[in-house]
Amino acid sequence: AKNPVRVLVTGAAGQIGYALVPMIARGAMLGPDQPVILHMLDIEPAAEALNGVKMELIDAAFPLLKGVVATTDVAEACKDVNIAVMVGGFPRKEGMERKDVMSKNVSIYKAQASALEKHAAPDCKVLVVANPANTNALILKEFAPSIPEKNITCLTRLDHNRALGQISERLDVHVSDVKNVIIWGNHSSTQYPDVNHATVTTSSGEKSVREIVTDDNWLNSEFITTVQQRGAAIIKARKLSSALSAASSACDHIRDWVLGTPKGTWVSMGVYSDGSYGIQEGLIYSFPVTCEKGEWSIVQGLKIDEFSRAKMDATAKELAEEKSLAYSCLN
Ligand code: NDP
Repeated sequence: AKNPVRVLVTGAAGQIGYALVPMIARGAMLGPDQPVILHMLDIEPAAEALNGVKMELIDAAFPLLKGVVATTDVAEACKDVNIAVMVGGFPRKEGMERKDVMSKNVSIYKAQASALEKHAAPDCKVLVVANPANTNALILKEFAPSIPEKNITCLTRLDHNRALGQISERLDVHVSDVKNVIIWGNHSSTQYPDVNHATVTTSSGEKSVREIVTDDNWLNSEFITTVQQRGAAIIKARKLSSALSAASSACDHIRDWVLGTPKGTWVSMGVYSDGSYGIQEGLIYSFPVTCEKGEWSIVQGLKIDEFSRAKMDATAKELAEEKSLAYSCLN
């Protein structure tokens, strides 16, 4: 039998955490034959609720779940973890300025970076979910210099899946027949959902989405804004932000990263830019990636038209601004 993998979830008593931990315990993240030990971290005010989640995990009698650590101690939570899913963060409340939230999250991610650096397994893979996800991941990377930069990523897979979902609804085809959309840039409303390379499997073979969706107007405007603003639409409908879809996409992100993307398919991940596609180095930016043997690589050589270029640059510009705001909070 395989040795258990230790998976950390921060903010585990929150709503994404509550949806995510049972998925991990059922094998949705690491596969149906991979035992796991869950490490759940939350802050003191949530300690009792966190313990309640632990009780429910025990009650669910998951065969793959070999242990549960529920704690408010960051060092204990990070001890020997192989995967870290960072969901905990300070939410933006009414009347708060961007800078206020940024400064709170910068200090949280700085502290958690140090804890991971000291206590996590040396090959630990990190996925940041909490917003501003790209910039939190960048701060984490800066303050955990011994963790390879390739191991620090942020979540844009939910946006990617939302884009697949919109195409599938529009064409009335199954979502698994749609692939290779791209989310470029920031996990924010400046993200650019790009369908120029996306395809649909039909009874007469693989067709490009541009070829089948003849309404360019829809693809170039409504499709993009629907994906960008889907989070707000969910909040309006549910009076709560998305949680089950966020949790599910976090599992997709880690699963594909660890176990590999299917041949001919790419996914979107926020990763440390190496300058690909003219995106400045030193930002955590969402790119199309394929994964093999636990390593992602950016898909190269895609043709970028003028429309895409402008949108890719606009979201990079926002990330550069967030980065300088984050650094100003450090001082
Ligand atoms: P959620 O579980 O709903 O969300 C957690 C984080 O994920 C938020 O930052 C949220 O951003 C972000 N997020 C990223 N992508 C998405 C998405 N697509 N949909 C929804 N959220 C997304 O928040 P809760 O308040 O329920 O839980 C947060 C937990 O974190 C709590 O248990 C709390 O105790 C803990 N916490 C930990 C802190 C720490 O570690 N120091 C500090 C503060 C809280 P957004 O806010 O923009 O929706």
